[in-house]
Amino acid sequence: MDSAPSDGPQPGSGPAANPLGHGPVLLLTDARLADGRVVDVRISGDRIQAVGTTGSLGPLPALPGAPTATTGARIDLRGYLLLPAPAEAHAHYDVAFSAALPAPPPETSADLTRRVTEAALTSLGYGATAQRTHVRIGDVHGLRRLEAVLTARQALRGLAELQAVAMPRLLTGRAGADGRAQLRDALKLGATAAGGCPELDPDPAGYVQVLLEAAREADCPVDLHTTGADPAQLARLAGALAPLRPRVVLGPCGALAPGGSAALASSGVRVVCLPQNGCCSGLEGRATGTRPGLARELARAGVPLSAGSGSLRDPANPVGRADPLEAAYLLAASGALDVEAAYDAVANQARAALGLPPVRVDAGFPAELLAVRGDSLAGALAGGHSRLVVHSGRIVSRTSAVREFADTVALALPRQSGSTGGG
Ligand SMILES: [Zn+2]
Repeated sequence: MDSAPSDGPQPGSGPAANPLGHGPVLLLTDARLADGRVVDVRISGDRIQAVGTTGSLGPLPALPGAPTATTGARIDLRGYLLLPAPAEAHAHYDVAFSAALPAPPPETSADLTRRVTEAALTSLGYGATAQRTHVRIGDVHGLRRLEAVLTARQALRGLAELQAVAMPRLLTGRAGADGRAQLRDALKLGATAAGGCPELDPDPAGYVQVLLEAAREADCPVDLHTTGADPAQLARLAGALAPLRPRVVLGPCGALAPGGSAALASSGVRVVCLPQNGCCSGLEGRATGTRPGLARELARAGVPLSAGSGSLRDPANPVGRADPLEAAYLLAASGALDVEAAYDAVANQARAALGLPPVRVDAGFPAELLAVRGDSLAGALAGGHSRLVVHSGRIVSRTSAVREFADTVALALPRQSGSTGGG
């Protein structure tokens, strides 16, 4: 946490006193990059316009004739690391925060929309400017949960990008008729992708066939759940999905059978793992858990690997917190991936899983950024609580953590750059 409030990112002495809601130009100064360089970054519209050494980008340009409120803002990022923003690759917002509610939780449209919106804002505060949530459709739910997610998506426009994956339970035979109709309706209504859990259908291969047909018809991506526990079934699934690359994602593969990583690698299918555990498909979660070493095995086999959060305080993980940096921390702390690869799994790999273009802190790239307290990537993952989030060129969230001690410590501690404490 910060040693003092004054160590937080400060708006410069420009006309925009409140940087949240600044004009079309944003100048981030004295930011450290993951490679150690300290730079200024100028953002114009939704793009990074220029990156240069400190002071090299000049003063914030004023827009001729524009009211002062639209001239932009300058933000001092001394003591902060500037990174491509993470993305949430796998969430279940329709059940978020339900662990503490009586079962079944209230399902009015207003209640669902409120919980989905709160979940998305929680994730955004941690830095995820793009998020994908899986939503149950059909059965008793109809399209109510999806409609709530789409309402929240509309309300969040400009703050974060929210994608919805429609999850029917059954798709084959007479029992699957409702699921088939609801899936098509969901994709017409605005669901981003088709998904679900083939293993919950009596005919998993038939489920995949129906789903792929609906996805082709709607020209949308596919994002499926599997435990990966049955090697023959996994090989068939990977083979069926391979032709849809790169618009196909599989996860969380928490009970992946030996040899499963080789089948996934040869199919080229992208996998989203859940290091924090907990997934509300009815297949994964605390009961089965994620097999230790899974992420390392997948990465070593060459599977394009990203990491999501899964549960946000729902019954599968009542302490789920939806912080992508926590997922990266767990991947690094367990030794599954090195620090850089662990962050990439929740940032550009997660963006790729969502079908989004990569981000670099470089001119021309999308201005999707996270400034986090710390002087290195390892330091940021170890304890970067203070954060500033940029989506589409605009500061959309700021968290400032302050730590204070009761008495002055007599021991002389060398002051680090901009901080005496963590993040
Ligand atoms: Zn899930």
